[in-house]
Amino acid sequence: MEIRIEQSCPQCGGPVVLSESDRLLTCSYCGVRNFLRSRGLFRYVLPVAGREEMVHAPYLRFKGTIFLVREEGIEHRLVDTTQVAVDHAGLPPSLGLRPQAMRLGRLAAATGGRFLRPAIRATAVLEKAARLSTLLRQERAVLYHRAFIGETVSCIYLPLQQRRDGLFDAVQDRLLVKGRARGLEGFPFSPRWQVDFLPTLCPHCGWTLDGEGDCLLLTCGNCDRAWLVDNSGLQPVPWQVVAGDERTRLYIGFWRITARIPTLAMESFADFIELTNQPMLPRPEWQRRAMQFWIPAFRIRPRIFLRLGRQATIGQHRLRPEPGTVRPGLYPVTLPPTEARQAIKVILAASAASPKRIFPSLPGVRPAGLSFALVYLPFVSTGQEWLQPHTGMVINKRVLGFGRSL
Ligand SMILES: [Zn+2]
Ligand SMILES: [Zn+2]
Repeated sequence: MEIRIEQSCPQCGGPVVLSESDRLLTCSYCGVRNFLRSRGLFRYVLPVAGREEMVHAPYLRFKGTIFLVREEGIEHRLVDTTQVAVDHAGLPPSLGLRPQAMRLGRLAAATGGRFLRPAIRATAVLEKAARLSTLLRQERAVLYHRAFIGETVSCIYLPLQQRRDGLFDAVQDRLLVKGRARGLEGFPFSPRWQVDFLPTLCPHCGWTLDGEGDCLLLTCGNCDRAWLVDNSGLQPVPWQVVAGDERTRLYIGFWRITARIPTLAMESFADFIELTNQPMLPRPEWQRRAMQFWIPAFRIRPRIFLRLGRQATIGQHRLRPEPGTVRPGLYPVTLPPTEARQAIKVILAASAASPKRIFPSLPGVRPAGLSFALVYLPFVSTGQEWLQPHTGMVINKRVLGFGRSL
Protein backbone atom coordinates (compact mmCIF):
# COMPACT_ATOMS: atom_id res chain seq x y z
CA MET A 1 0.00 0.00 0.00
CA GLU A 2 1.15 3.51 -0.73
CA ILE A 3 1.74 6.02 1.99
CA ARG A 4 0.61 9.64 1.59
CA ILE A 5 2.71 12.61 2.55
CA GLU A 6 1.25 15.97 3.40
CA GLN A 7 3.47 18.73 2.19
CA SER A 8 3.18 22.47 1.82
CA CYS A 9 3.94 23.99 -1.57
CA PRO A 10 7.50 25.43 -1.49
CA GLN A 11 6.24 28.51 -3.35
CA CYS A 12 2.78 29.43 -2.00
CA GLY A 13 2.50 27.23 1.09
CA GLY A 14 -0.69 25.56 -0.16
CA PRO A 15 -1.31 21.96 0.95
CA VAL A 16 -0.15 19.25 -1.45
CA VAL A 17 -0.51 15.51 -0.91
CA LEU A 18 2.13 13.28 -2.50
CA SER A 19 2.49 9.54 -2.67
CA GLU A 20 5.80 8.06 -1.52
CA SER A 21 6.93 7.32 -5.05
CA ASP A 22 6.28 10.87 -6.27
CA ARG A 23 9.44 12.76 -7.15
CA LEU A 24 7.58 15.65 -8.76
CA LEU A 25 5.32 18.10 -7.03
CA THR A 26 2.67 20.05 -8.91
CA CYS A 27 0.81 22.64 -6.83
CA SER A 28 -2.87 22.92 -7.70
CA TYR A 29 -3.02 26.42 -6.14
CA CYS A 30 -0.15 28.29 -7.77
CA GLY A 31 0.75 25.81 -10.53
CA VAL A 32 4.44 25.60 -9.61
CA ARG A 33 6.18 22.37 -10.64
CA ASN A 34 9.22 21.14 -8.74
CA PHE A 35 11.18 17.98 -8.37
CA LEU A 36 12.40 16.71 -5.03
CA ARG A 37 16.07 16.18 -4.38
CA SER A 38 17.32 14.43 -1.26
CA ARG A 39 20.92 13.54 -0.48
CA GLY A 40 19.87 10.44 1.41
CA LEU A 41 16.66 8.64 2.24
CA PHE A 42 13.38 10.48 2.20
CA ARG A 43 12.38 11.08 5.84
CA TYR A 44 8.85 11.35 7.18
CA VAL A 45 7.21 11.83 10.58
CA LEU A 46 4.00 10.39 11.98
CA PRO A 47 1.58 13.19 12.79
CA VAL A 48 1.41 14.48 16.38
CA ALA A 49 0.99 17.80 18.19
CA GLY A 50 3.55 19.35 20.56
CA ARG A 51 6.56 17.75 18.94
CA GLU A 52 9.18 20.13 20.45
CA GLU A 53 9.53 18.08 23.64
CA MET A 54 9.73 14.75 21.85
CA VAL A 55 12.41 12.44 20.59
CA HIS A 56 11.80 10.53 17.38
CA ALA A 57 12.72 6.88 16.74
CA PRO A 58 13.60 5.95 13.14
CA TYR A 59 11.91 3.10 11.29
CA LEU A 60 13.13 1.97 7.90
CA ARG A 61 10.48 1.27 5.33
CA PHE A 62 11.01 -0.97 2.31
CA LYS A 63 8.48 -1.54 -0.39
CA GLY A 64 9.60 -3.60 -3.32
CA THR A 65 10.08 -7.09 -4.67
CA ILE A 66 12.33 -9.92 -3.56
CA PHE A 67 13.35 -12.34 -6.30
CA LEU A 68 14.85 -15.70 -5.37
CA VAL A 69 16.49 -17.97 -7.91
CA ARG A 70 16.59 -21.54 -6.67
CA GLU A 71 16.73 -25.03 -8.13
CA GLU A 72 12.97 -25.20 -8.58
CA GLY A 73 12.75 -21.91 -10.44
CA ILE A 74 12.38 -18.20 -9.77
CA GLU A 75 10.16 -17.08 -6.92
CA HIS A 76 9.11 -13.58 -6.09
CA ARG A 77 7.21 -11.71 -3.47
CA LEU A 78 6.11 -8.14 -2.94
CA VAL A 79 7.39 -6.83 0.37
CA ASP A 80 5.97 -3.89 2.28
CA THR A 81 7.59 -3.55 5.71
CA THR A 82 8.55 -0.90 8.26
CA GLN A 83 11.13 -2.08 10.84
CA VAL A 84 12.59 -0.30 13.85
CA ALA A 85 16.13 0.94 13.11
CA VAL A 86 17.39 1.48 16.68
CA ASP A 87 18.14 -1.10 19.32
CA HIS A 88 16.07 0.07 22.26
CA ALA A 89 13.96 -2.18 24.47
CA GLY A 90 10.29 -1.35 24.46
CA LEU A 91 9.99 0.18 21.01
CA PRO A 92 7.49 -1.53 18.71
CA PRO A 93 9.45 -3.71 16.22
CA SER A 94 7.35 -2.43 13.34
CA LEU A 95 4.95 0.44 12.68
CA GLY A 96 2.46 -2.05 11.26
CA LEU A 97 -0.19 -0.37 9.14
CA ARG A 98 0.14 3.04 10.78
CA PRO A 99 2.13 4.69 7.96
CA GLN A 100 -0.58 3.74 5.47
CA ALA A 101 -3.44 4.77 7.74
CA MET A 102 -2.14 8.28 8.45
CA ARG A 103 -1.02 11.26 6.44
CA LEU A 104 2.68 11.56 7.10
CA GLY A 105 4.59 14.82 7.24
CA ARG A 106 7.90 15.46 5.56
CA LEU A 107 10.76 15.93 8.03
CA ALA A 108 11.95 19.53 7.82
CA ALA A 109 13.82 22.08 9.92
CA ALA A 110 10.48 23.35 11.26
CA THR A 111 9.33 19.90 12.42
CA GLY A 112 10.88 20.33 15.88
CA GLY A 113 12.02 17.75 18.40
CA ARG A 114 15.09 15.53 18.49
CA PHE A 115 15.98 12.42 16.50
CA LEU A 116 17.63 9.09 17.25
CA ARG A 117 20.22 7.99 14.75
CA PRO A 118 19.38 4.80 12.81
CA ALA A 119 21.69 2.07 14.12
CA ILE A 120 20.91 -0.51 11.46
CA ARG A 121 21.30 -0.20 7.73
CA ALA A 122 18.66 -0.51 5.06
CA THR A 123 20.25 -3.76 3.87
CA ALA A 124 19.66 -5.30 7.30
CA VAL A 125 15.97 -4.44 7.02
CA LEU A 126 15.90 -6.18 3.65
CA GLU A 127 17.59 -9.27 5.11
CA LYS A 128 14.99 -9.39 7.82
CA ALA A 129 12.19 -8.93 5.32
CA ALA A 130 13.57 -11.86 3.31
CA ARG A 131 13.72 -14.05 6.41
CA LEU A 132 10.21 -13.08 7.44
CA SER A 133 8.85 -13.93 4.05
CA THR A 134 7.78 -17.55 3.80
CA LEU A 135 9.96 -17.92 0.71
CA LEU A 136 13.05 -18.72 2.73
CA ARG A 137 11.49 -21.06 5.24
CA GLN A 138 12.43 -24.16 3.28
CA GLU A 139 16.00 -23.73 4.43
CA ARG A 140 17.59 -26.68 2.75
CA ALA A 141 16.68 -25.57 -0.76
CA VAL A 142 19.66 -24.28 -2.75
CA LEU A 143 19.55 -20.52 -3.29
CA TYR A 144 21.53 -19.34 -6.31
CA HIS A 145 20.65 -15.70 -6.29
CA ARG A 146 18.57 -13.18 -4.40
CA ALA A 147 17.74 -9.69 -5.60
CA PHE A 148 15.81 -6.85 -4.04
CA ILE A 149 14.28 -4.67 -6.66
CA GLY A 150 13.21 -1.83 -4.45
CA GLU A 151 10.61 0.69 -5.31
CA THR A 152 11.12 2.70 -2.15
CA VAL A 153 13.36 2.76 0.90
CA SER A 154 12.53 5.56 3.31
CA CYS A 155 12.76 6.50 6.97
CA ILE A 156 9.66 7.16 9.11
CA TYR A 157 10.03 8.64 12.59
CA LEU A 158 7.81 7.63 15.49
CA PRO A 159 7.47 10.46 18.08
CA LEU A 160 8.18 9.35 21.65
CA GLN A 161 7.48 11.32 24.80
CA GLN A 162 9.09 10.90 28.20
CA ARG A 163 6.52 11.56 30.92
CA ARG A 164 6.71 11.15 34.68
CA ASP A 165 5.44 7.56 34.57
CA GLY A 166 7.38 6.37 31.55
CA LEU A 167 8.14 6.57 27.84
CA PHE A 168 5.10 6.91 25.61
CA ASP A 169 4.33 6.33 21.98
CA ALA A 170 3.03 9.85 21.40
CA VAL A 171 0.83 8.93 18.44
CA GLN A 172 -1.15 6.21 20.19
CA ASP A 173 -0.65 7.65 23.70
CA ARG A 174 0.56 4.22 24.77
CA LEU A 175 3.09 3.39 27.52
CA LEU A 176 6.18 1.67 26.07
CA VAL A 177 8.70 1.66 28.94
CA LYS A 178 7.99 2.32 32.63
CA GLY A 179 10.08 4.93 34.40
CA ARG A 180 12.88 6.95 32.86
CA ALA A 181 14.13 5.55 29.52
CA ARG A 182 17.89 5.87 28.89
CA GLY A 183 19.86 6.56 25.75
CA LEU A 184 17.13 8.67 24.19
CA GLU A 185 18.77 12.10 24.03
CA GLY A 186 18.88 12.12 20.25
CA PHE A 187 20.17 14.81 17.91
CA PRO A 188 18.62 17.97 16.50
CA PHE A 189 17.47 18.16 12.89
CA SER A 190 20.38 17.95 10.47
CA PRO A 191 20.46 20.21 7.39
CA ARG A 192 21.67 17.14 5.43
CA TRP A 193 18.13 15.74 5.77
CA GLN A 194 16.66 18.75 4.03
CA VAL A 195 14.81 18.03 0.78
CA ASP A 196 15.39 20.57 -1.96
CA PHE A 197 12.64 21.62 -4.35
CA LEU A 198 14.06 22.44 -7.74
CA PRO A 199 12.35 23.78 -10.83
CA THR A 200 11.64 21.27 -13.62
CA LEU A 201 13.51 23.24 -16.25
CA CYS A 202 15.73 21.67 -18.90
CA PRO A 203 19.35 22.14 -17.70
CA HIS A 204 20.42 22.42 -21.35
CA CYS A 205 17.94 24.91 -22.84
CA GLY A 206 15.79 26.16 -19.95
CA TRP A 207 12.51 24.88 -21.41
CA THR A 208 9.86 23.42 -19.05
CA LEU A 209 10.27 19.63 -18.89
CA ASP A 210 7.44 17.14 -19.38
CA GLY A 211 6.51 14.65 -16.67
CA GLU A 212 4.80 14.64 -13.31
CA GLY A 213 4.03 12.54 -10.24
CA ASP A 214 6.09 9.37 -9.97
CA CYS A 215 7.83 9.90 -13.32
CA LEU A 216 11.63 9.60 -12.97
CA LEU A 217 12.53 10.59 -16.51
CA LEU A 218 11.70 14.08 -17.77
CA THR A 219 11.88 14.93 -21.43
CA CYS A 220 12.43 18.31 -23.06
CA GLY A 221 10.06 19.03 -25.93
CA ASN A 222 12.39 21.78 -27.13
CA CYS A 223 15.83 20.13 -27.36
CA ASP A 224 14.72 16.45 -27.14
CA ARG A 225 17.02 15.67 -24.24
CA ALA A 226 15.96 13.30 -21.46
CA TRP A 227 16.83 13.80 -17.78
CA LEU A 228 16.76 11.35 -14.92
CA VAL A 229 15.62 12.64 -11.52
CA ASP A 230 18.07 11.28 -8.96
CA ASN A 231 19.58 12.27 -5.63
CA SER A 232 22.03 14.69 -7.17
CA GLY A 233 19.52 16.44 -9.43
CA LEU A 234 18.81 16.00 -13.14
CA GLN A 235 21.19 13.67 -14.98
CA PRO A 236 21.30 13.48 -18.78
CA VAL A 237 20.25 10.05 -20.07
CA PRO A 238 20.99 8.65 -23.53
CA TRP A 239 17.67 7.66 -25.01
CA GLN A 240 16.23 6.19 -28.18
CA VAL A 241 12.89 5.24 -29.67
CA VAL A 242 11.96 2.29 -31.86
CA ALA A 243 9.74 3.85 -34.51
CA GLY A 244 6.07 2.93 -34.45
CA ASP A 245 3.45 3.37 -37.14
CA GLU A 246 -0.01 4.92 -37.41
CA ARG A 247 -1.39 2.23 -35.07
CA THR A 248 1.06 3.10 -32.25
CA ARG A 249 -0.74 4.58 -29.24
CA LEU A 250 1.86 4.18 -26.53
CA TYR A 251 5.64 4.03 -26.11
CA ILE A 252 6.90 2.07 -23.11
CA GLY A 253 10.46 2.45 -21.83
CA PHE A 254 13.02 -0.30 -21.22
CA TRP A 255 16.51 0.15 -19.76
CA ARG A 256 18.90 -1.33 -22.28
CA ILE A 257 21.99 -2.37 -20.35
CA THR A 258 24.93 -3.47 -22.46
CA ALA A 259 27.02 -5.86 -20.37
CA ARG A 260 29.47 -8.74 -20.59
CA ILE A 261 29.35 -11.71 -18.22
CA PRO A 262 33.01 -12.81 -17.97
CA THR A 263 32.38 -15.91 -15.79
CA LEU A 264 30.07 -17.34 -18.45
CA ALA A 265 32.23 -16.09 -21.35
CA MET A 266 29.13 -14.23 -22.50
CA GLU A 267 30.26 -11.32 -24.67
CA SER A 268 27.87 -11.23 -27.60
CA PHE A 269 24.20 -11.80 -28.22
CA ALA A 270 25.18 -15.04 -30.00
CA ASP A 271 26.89 -16.24 -26.78
CA PHE A 272 23.71 -15.47 -24.86
CA ILE A 273 21.52 -17.42 -27.31
CA GLU A 274 23.80 -20.45 -27.04
CA LEU A 275 24.43 -20.33 -23.28
CA THR A 276 20.74 -19.96 -22.43
CA ASN A 277 19.81 -22.73 -24.91
CA GLN A 278 17.31 -20.72 -26.94
CA PRO A 279 15.44 -22.80 -29.51
CA MET A 280 16.95 -20.84 -32.40
CA LEU A 281 20.26 -20.75 -34.24
CA PRO A 282 22.37 -17.66 -33.68
CA ARG A 283 22.97 -15.72 -36.88
CA PRO A 284 26.65 -15.05 -37.75
CA GLU A 285 26.22 -11.28 -37.27
CA TRP A 286 25.07 -11.83 -33.67
CA GLN A 287 28.71 -12.67 -32.83
CA ARG A 288 29.47 -8.98 -33.34
CA ARG A 289 26.37 -7.78 -31.51
CA ALA A 290 27.16 -6.80 -27.88
CA MET A 291 24.95 -8.49 -25.31
CA GLN A 292 22.20 -6.25 -23.98
CA PHE A 293 19.79 -6.85 -21.13
CA TRP A 294 16.42 -5.19 -21.66
CA ILE A 295 14.79 -4.42 -18.34
CA PRO A 296 11.30 -2.89 -17.96
CA ALA A 297 11.74 0.74 -16.84
CA PHE A 298 8.39 0.83 -15.06
CA ARG A 299 6.88 -0.79 -12.03
CA ILE A 300 4.77 -3.81 -12.77
CA ARG A 301 3.91 -7.09 -11.04
CA PRO A 302 6.99 -9.32 -10.62
CA ARG A 303 5.70 -12.15 -12.80
CA ILE A 304 5.04 -9.75 -15.69
CA PHE A 305 8.36 -7.97 -15.07
CA LEU A 306 10.22 -11.28 -15.56
CA ARG A 307 8.27 -12.16 -18.68
CA LEU A 308 8.73 -8.76 -20.34
CA GLY A 309 12.43 -8.63 -19.47
CA ARG A 310 12.92 -12.09 -20.94
CA GLN A 311 10.93 -11.38 -24.11
CA ALA A 312 12.63 -8.05 -24.81
CA THR A 313 16.10 -9.49 -24.11
CA ILE A 314 15.60 -12.52 -26.35
CA GLY A 315 13.90 -10.42 -29.05
CA GLN A 316 16.48 -7.57 -29.02
CA HIS A 317 17.74 -8.39 -32.54
CA ARG A 318 14.32 -7.37 -33.91
CA LEU A 319 14.54 -3.85 -32.45
CA ARG A 320 16.05 -0.93 -34.40
CA PRO A 321 16.25 2.08 -32.08
CA GLU A 322 16.64 5.60 -33.47
CA PRO A 323 17.64 8.81 -31.66
CA GLY A 324 14.93 9.83 -29.18
CA THR A 325 12.54 12.62 -30.07
CA VAL A 326 9.71 13.74 -27.82
CA ARG A 327 6.28 12.58 -29.02
CA PRO A 328 2.84 11.94 -27.52
CA GLY A 329 2.24 8.69 -25.62
CA LEU A 330 5.54 8.29 -23.73
CA TYR A 331 4.66 6.12 -20.75
CA PRO A 332 6.24 7.28 -17.44
CA VAL A 333 9.56 5.73 -16.42
CA THR A 334 9.15 4.68 -12.76
CA LEU A 335 12.04 2.25 -12.24
CA PRO A 336 15.48 3.89 -11.98
CA PRO A 337 18.52 2.42 -13.78
CA THR A 338 20.13 1.49 -10.45
CA GLU A 339 17.22 -0.88 -9.82
CA ALA A 340 17.27 -2.17 -13.40
CA ARG A 341 20.89 -3.09 -12.85
CA GLN A 342 19.85 -5.24 -9.87
CA ALA A 343 17.61 -7.15 -12.28
CA ILE A 344 20.32 -8.28 -14.74
CA LYS A 345 20.97 -11.64 -13.09
CA VAL A 346 17.26 -12.24 -12.52
CA ILE A 347 16.45 -11.60 -16.19
CA LEU A 348 19.40 -13.79 -17.21
CA ALA A 349 17.94 -16.58 -15.05
CA ALA A 350 14.45 -15.99 -16.45
CA SER A 351 15.83 -16.26 -20.00
CA ALA A 352 17.49 -19.64 -19.46
CA ALA A 353 15.73 -22.38 -21.38
CA SER A 354 17.89 -24.91 -19.51
CA PRO A 355 18.16 -23.56 -15.96
CA LYS A 356 20.78 -26.17 -15.01
CA ARG A 357 23.29 -24.55 -17.37
CA ILE A 358 22.87 -21.05 -15.91
CA PHE A 359 21.51 -21.14 -12.35
CA PRO A 360 24.53 -22.78 -10.61
CA SER A 361 26.85 -20.12 -12.12
CA LEU A 362 24.76 -17.17 -10.87
CA PRO A 363 26.63 -16.65 -7.56
CA GLY A 364 29.82 -15.89 -9.55
CA VAL A 365 28.19 -13.73 -12.21
CA ARG A 366 29.49 -10.14 -12.18
CA PRO A 367 28.21 -8.11 -15.11
CA ALA A 368 31.05 -6.00 -16.54
CA GLY A 369 31.45 -3.08 -18.94
CA LEU A 370 27.95 -1.77 -18.27
CA SER A 371 26.41 1.04 -20.28
CA PHE A 372 22.83 2.26 -20.02
CA ALA A 373 20.29 3.78 -22.38
CA LEU A 374 16.56 4.16 -22.22
CA VAL A 375 14.69 2.83 -25.24
CA TYR A 376 10.99 3.39 -25.81
CA LEU A 377 9.22 0.60 -27.70
CA PRO A 378 5.97 1.19 -29.62
CA PHE A 379 2.79 -0.60 -28.50
CA VAL A 380 -0.53 -0.95 -30.29
CA SER A 381 -3.91 -1.45 -28.66
CA THR A 382 -5.66 -4.81 -29.07
CA GLY A 383 -8.76 -4.53 -26.88
CA GLN A 384 -7.69 -5.60 -23.38
CA GLU A 385 -3.98 -5.54 -24.10
CA TRP A 386 -1.03 -3.56 -25.37
CA LEU A 387 0.95 -5.43 -28.03
CA GLN A 388 4.56 -4.77 -28.99
CA PRO A 389 4.61 -5.80 -32.67
CA HIS A 390 8.38 -6.54 -33.06
CA THR A 391 8.76 -8.87 -30.07
CA GLY A 392 5.19 -10.11 -29.52
CA MET A 393 5.18 -8.80 -25.92
CA VAL A 394 1.71 -8.16 -24.53
CA ILE A 395 0.78 -6.25 -21.38
CA ASN A 396 -2.73 -6.27 -19.97
CA LYS A 397 -3.98 -2.67 -19.89
CA ARG A 398 -5.41 -3.00 -16.42
CA VAL A 399 -2.13 -4.46 -15.17
CA LEU A 400 -0.16 -1.60 -16.61
CA GLY A 401 -2.44 0.70 -14.67
CA PHE A 402 -2.26 3.49 -17.15
CA GLY A 403 -5.95 4.20 -16.55
CA ARG A 404 -5.06 7.71 -15.35
CA SER A 405 -4.79 9.15 -18.83
CA LEU A 406 -5.91 6.54 -21.36
ZN1 LIG B 1 1.76 26.54 -4.70
ZN1 LIG C 1 15.95 21.32 -23.48
